[in-house]
Amino acid sequence: MATHDPLTGVLNARAYYATCDQLIELAKRQGTPYTVLFVDLDHFKSINDTYGHAAGDLVLQAVASALQQGIRASDALGRIGGEEFSIFLPHTDLDSASRLAETLRQTIQNLMPAIGAEQHIRITASIGVARNQHNAQTMLAIQQQADQAMYLAKSQGRNRVSCFTEDHAGLQTAH
Ligand code: GH3
Ligand code: MG
Ligand code: MG
Repeated sequence: MATHDPLTGVLNARAYYATCDQLIELAKRQGTPYTVLFVDLDHFKSINDTYGHAAGDLVLQAVASALQQGIRASDALGRIGGEEFSIFLPHTDLDSASRLAETLRQTIQNLMPAIGAEQHIRITASIGVARNQHNAQTMLAIQQQADQAMYLAKSQGRNRVSCFTEDHAGLQTAH
């Protein structure tokens, strides 16, 4: 399917962003808040290096499936990079989104996907959270803020959730 990622079955990047643009238009008309979670798996390169690329693929499938099960049917989930997923949450403020992000972080940590008969892999993720700040905000802008928050989570030690604030914007541009 042209709209879905063949490996994980979730929306591919193009279809995901198109869906988000539509959801943003709807949210603007309704005046409702929305948020984006950016999920990046930690040290995924070393999973491939240690267990092989096929095992890495199984991990990506397991994570995508857990994320899909952990969100509402009205939310959108996309694979936007190799080991990167983005989730769009309509009707969701920053508090609820960060609570969901924390639940998803724990779900991924507890997943321990099986790669063969006996072996289970410990996998963790860093998650950045950003909310719509004003009515003119584009998906690109909010995704970039979620991306900045995700990098903060990485720099603070990985396997954690970080929310974008204006302070982070200041920090990022000051360097
Ligand atoms: P960090 O914690 O900083 O995010 O480290 P990382 O290793 O996750 O990040 P990096 O961007 O260095 O590596 C991402 C890896 O994901 C490298 C690439 O080989 C792997 N990858 C990308 N797409 C796929 C895929 O479809 N299948 C598999 N098995 N691996 C993939
Ligand atoms: Mg990455
Ligand atoms: Mg990564």
